[in-house]
This record gives sequence, structure tokens and C-alpha cells, in this order.
Amino acid sequence: MNKRDYYEILGVTKTSTADEIKSAYRKLAMKYHPDRNPDDKEAEAKFKEATEAYEVLSDDGKRKRYDQFGHQGVRAGQDFHQNININDIFSQFGDIFGGGGGGTIFDEFFGGGQRRGGQRRSVGQPGSDLKIRLKLTLEEIATGVEKTLKIKRQRPCETCNGSGAKSGSGYTTCTTCQGQGEIRQVSRSMFGQFVNISACNNCGGSGQIIKDQCLTCSGEGRIHGETTLKVNVPAGVSSGNYIPIRGKGNAGRRGGEPGDVIVVIEEEDHQFFHRDGDDIVYDLTISFPDAVLGGEIDIPTLTGTAALKIEAGTQPGTVLKMRDKGIPHLNSYGKGDQLIRINVYVPTKLSGKEKDLMKELATSENISPKKNKKSHKDSGFFGKMRDAFS
Ligand SMILES: [Zn+2]
Ligand SMILES: [Zn+2]
Repeated sequence: MNKRDYYEILGVTKTSTADEIKSAYRKLAMKYHPDRNPDDKEAEAKFKEATEAYEVLSDDGKRKRYDQFGHQGVRAGQDFHQNININDIFSQFGDIFGGGGGGTIFDEFFGGGQRRGGQRRSVGQPGSDLKIRLKLTLEEIATGVEKTLKIKRQRPCETCNGSGAKSGSGYTTCTTCQGQGEIRQVSRSMFGQFVNISACNNCGGSGQIIKDQCLTCSGEGRIHGETTLKVNVPAGVSSGNYIPIRGKGNAGRRGGEPGDVIVVIEEEDHQFFHRDGDDIVYDLTISFPDAVLGGEIDIPTLTGTAALKIEAGTQPGTVLKMRDKGIPHLNSYGKGDQLIRINVYVPTKLSGKEKDLMKELATSENISPKKNKKSHKDSGFFGKMRDAFS
């Protein structure tokens, strides 16, 4: 197959500049673009031919090889695809069509025709969703809870049953768009004719207008109101979880589908606990004698109180676990735990008698870490501490 000379295809010469080649290709591409010449095989062939020529001549290396060796030099079959995808071409050459940042002019021009679809929208327009924040305590989250929400929303107008029309009067075809719901405007530009399609303002794109508007809702088919709504919150939710309630949002305009209510969960801070996944963490400060001798202490839980056993010799920083006293897993069986972090209280104010007891205790052989842990490197430090005490 004999190929035409690339310079000839684009109507330029061997001395033409890159800008001249670009501009020549642009003209041909606009003229032969398949979207503008539907079912025209010859135009499509010309378009591909021009694109191939441009691909070679716009690339310095390829252009040099082509000048030197002709078509053999660039081996078109390898250098680009025979089945040219239009969108690829324009994303590749986007700059020459002045697209700049995303869509090219072709997107607007040719894309418009595909997007239109042509079917008329129904008379009503859908209502919007309502986002409601729901604050919950950890206790409510632990058990699950039913809440009653009072929400302000648009609800269907009872006078006209949501239609927006005075009873019996009904609808009539919009004269602005002849019932099409859209307005077409043709404008000219350097690229040729543009057909701009927009929704009809007069009828809001529905193609129909109300002959006689309902007085209660001024033809909207909906009015402002307040409703109460029950929502069942399952145990184990956390902040950011949301519960959609279908069809309970704002009423649609003129009988359109209602929106949804989206209940967004917000967890309140707790006085005692903080949450770690489905575990809850509780910081417990015990007295020095309790840590040493052990004992039983009542601590708060999510469902009340529980007796916690402290072993004799419990160290500060110990974490005790009360199994299944945490928050139920949302999407599976089981519960988290309650974790108790032990801190030991060091008194800062002592009476004279207490001081005497402490001093006496301090001389006792089991009271100091120095004597219990023979390898303790800080024994010197603790020794000094004891000196400071006496
Ligand atoms: Zn209209
Ligand atoms: Zn009404």
C-alpha cells in the first residue's frame, strides 16, 4: 500500500514550523472528525491519515527519521495504533485544542450530544436529603437505643396532594419549550456550530406548567413542617456511622420522590471512660496500702458497677481486664472488654503521725526497691531519696 507523503497530507512543507504543522492538523481534524461526519468512511480515513501524519511530524525525532528514510523510517504500524480511539487522540493532543485542565473543547462540543438522552423528566423533582446529627452516650451505644427525632422538613402539601395545582385545574404544556423541557440554542464559533442545550427555565425542565397554582403551597406541592421520626440505633455504633431512613427527607417538588433522612452518629465524651475500638478504658487510682495488701474495689461499668479484685502487690501501670464489659461488636457477635489501668496514689499531705509511720516504714527492709531488686542500677538515687526523707 502506497502511503501519501505526510507533508502533503497536512498541506505543509519540509520547512514548515511546528506551529504551522499544529495549525494545519487542527483544521483537518476539525473538518474530518468522525463525530461531525457520522457514517462517512472517507472522512474517517482522512481523519486517521491526518492524525498519523501529525503524530510523526509533531515529534522531532520521528520527523527527522521520516525526512531521512521516509515511511520506512517511522514504521507507522509500530509507532501508534491503527485503530485510533478518538478520545485517546484528544487526551494526547489536548493542548492543541485549547482544552487546558481536563476537558477539551471536543468534550463540550461532541459530548453534549451524547449526554442529552432526550427523554423528558417527570413533572415532579426529587426532594433533598436531610442530615441529622444524633448524639449518644457510651451507655446508649453499649445497649442500643430507640430515639425519637423532631425534624424540620418539607412535607407534601395536603391541599393539592403534593401536585402544586389547584384541584382539578391540572397541567398544561409549557409554551416556552413546547413541552420538550429543554431549550436549544445554536451559536457559531471558530470551530463551527455549537448546539447548546439547557433545561427550560419556564417549566423547570418538566415540559409542563401548572395552569392554576395551589394557594397553600404556591404551586410547589410541598410546605415547611415538622415531623417526629423514630430511629433504632443498634448497639456498637461509633462516631461517623450513619443510618439512612429512606423517603423521610424533604418532600419532592410537585409530587417528586422524597429525599432520605441521614442520621449521623456522634459519640459524647464520657465522664469516666474512653473508648478504644469496642473496649472501654477506665483509669483507676488505688491507695498504696490497697496496692500492697490487695482488696476489692467497686468500679463503674457501662451497665452499673462491678467489684474488681486487686491482687496483693499490684504494680502501677498494670492493666486489668474485665471480659465482655465493653461495647458489643456492631457487625458480629461478642463484646469488647473493660480495661482498668491501675495507678497508685501518692499522698502529698500527711499529718505528723502519718509522717512518723512513714519514716518507720521506710527503714523496713521490704519497702525499698534497692533491697528487693539487687541489680537495680538506680539504687544510689533511691538511697539519696531516703536521705531526703529523714
Ligand atoms: Zn418549558
Ligand atoms: Zn398545594
